[in-house]
Amino acid sequence: MEEKGLIQVYTGDGKGKTTASIGQAIRAKGHKFKVCFVYFFKNPKDFPYGEVELLKGLGIEVVNFVPQHPHFYKNITAEQIREKCLKAIESIKEIFQKGYDMLILDEILITIRDGFLKEEEILDLLEKKPESLEIILTGRGATKKIIERADLVTEMKKIKHPFHQGVKERRGIEY
Ligand code: ATP
Ligand code: MG
Repeated sequence: MEEKGLIQVYTGDGKGKTTASIGQAIRAKGHKFKVCFVYFFKNPKDFPYGEVELLKGLGIEVVNFVPQHPHFYKNITAEQIREKCLKAIESIKEIFQKGYDMLILDEILITIRDGFLKEEEILDLLEKKPESLEIILTGRGATKKIIERADLVTEMKKIKHPFHQGVKERRGIEY
């Protein structure tokens, strides 16, 4: 892909952010783009996400950072999470050097929302992105500055979600 890569944001409290980013990754791969899918705060050991092996099978690089969120793993501290997030940022800078056309950073916005990283740390990362790289950031709570920096912002707005009727995560739907 020779064109300029843009910055996309999928945010909001409704379902569809991660699944939209998976769809975007697959569409790009269909045109032989070199795609890397990075995801935060998800532990495939506890929830075997249906998409992970499939994306790998399509030739998409899949990378997992900071699998444990303290909301679900009580013995990990916010300081430990921040350290892991900072390391992840350094690793993403290395990923920038690998010639990808598209990079998905799934749930990265949660690092700001939950105070593990400062918005400036993500903005600084975006400054370092290669010109031709398309980046997709997902997660609830995109900040004003992130929205200003992005070229495309979609808000998934919850109208209804079965979780609020007591329906637990469903295999093949939520993971
Ligand atoms: P999906 O992965 O299904 O595209 P998402 O990425 O938009 O959803 P997240 O904010 O990452 O959603 O939420 C994580 C999980 O919570 C997902 O399994 C999602 O289906 C579910 N979820 C999404 N919106 C809500 C909501 N408003 N209330 C409860 N659970 C939700
Ligand atoms: Mg998500």
